Amino acid sequence: MIEQVRATFLPFSQPVLGDEEIEELVACVRSGWITTGPRTAQFEALFRERLGVAHAIAVTSASAGWHIAAHALGIGPGDEVIVPAITWASSANMVELLGARAVFADVLPETLQVNPEDVARRITSRTRAVIPVHFAGAPCDLTALRQLVEGTGVTLVEDAAHALGTWYQDREIGSDGHMAIFSFHPIKNITTGEGGMVVLNDDTLAERLRLLRFHGVTKDAWSRYNRKGAPEYEIIEPGYKYNMPDMQAALGLRQLPKLDGFNSRRAQLAARYTALLEALPEIAPLAPVPYAHHHAWHLYIVRIEQGALRIGRNEVLDELARANIGAGLHFPPLHTQPYYRNKYHLRPEDCPCAADAGSRILSLPLYPSMTDADQDDVITALERVVQRYRA
Ligand SMILES: *Cc1c(COP(=O)(O)O)cnc(C)c1O
Repeated sequence: MIEQVRATFLPFSQPVLGDEEIEELVACVRSGWITTGPRTAQFEALFRERLGVAHAIAVTSASAGWHIAAHALGIGPGDEVIVPAITWASSANMVELLGARAVFADVLPETLQVNPEDVARRITSRTRAVIPVHFAGAPCDLTALRQLVEGTGVTLVEDAAHALGTWYQDREIGSDGHMAIFSFHPIKNITTGEGGMVVLNDDTLAERLRLLRFHGVTKDAWSRYNRKGAPEYEIIEPGYKYNMPDMQAALGLRQLPKLDGFNSRRAQLAARYTALLEALPEIAPLAPVPYAHHHAWHLYIVRIEQGALRIGRNEVLDELARANIGAGLHFPPLHTQPYYRNKYHLRPEDCPCAADAGSRILSLPLYPSMTDADQDDVITALERVVQRYRA
């Protein structure tokens, strides 16, 4: 066992919330309007302006956004949706909840972005959508994926939970394409506590998403109680209850203008990690994606080189925790999770790169308020682990 390298625990992630956010939240509460209303509308407008898209639809989480998107696309029994094997559970879970089948595509070994060739192999006549993830804040290969689905009727719904401020070539993620979904969970690059945003240009689909977000009702509470005209409404179809409240949007309104500043500090820290890790060949960062991009550095993921240590990844995480360093795991492969493994008789080798990475990756602490000294502590702890357990 190694010793602690610092007196206080360094969390893996921490939201950066300032007086601006607190004051906006207090103003929201004082205004007497705390559910979906003017602040949510303003937050949506900020997103539309930033990305230059026709529609930004604020929801209670990215998972909720994908749920209404998948519902609106008519995904149901008999349909298949392709999801990378390394991502958060929500993409696949929503597909299953709608009675469709989640099909896992392998990732590329060096970058852990979804492998377009493996996606191509898994497309069938039942495929309705592909949900690529811009993994860790780097963009996936959108050109290859767009070519795959062009003219096929398969929708590309980008999971942009890691990609607030990511650019692919000369376009910011979410500014073009079919649809992209952002998350504002506290770990993400900006936060509203919990929350998500669906961005798209298709007017008809956007209208449907707004209905599904709030009970299939034509007027939300704000327009029923706070504007001129009768509070009458119509139910067009059964919908969900996924509208973002103004208390959440209040934080988002003050977080979004800080995004680029947050991301440049993340990028500084990431560059520093990469430089410091050069002296530690047992611990390798992911490779950069091989096309023009701007990285949002949502996560800094490293991989333990094959056979480099006498202990496994989970023991490394335990050792770091003992050293008072928080670290994360993004993500255990979905195709090895009991529900999916059992239901579809999946073996690790069905997505071999994901299975291999799944046993060797860990995410180092990374957030804008982290100091260089905090980062030095992470490196010191890793050095001690390597010295103690080098194979
Ligand atoms: C966080 C995350 C989500 C889900 O976001 P929520 O807002 O928590 O629903 C989806 N996909 C990925 C890749 C994520 O990291």
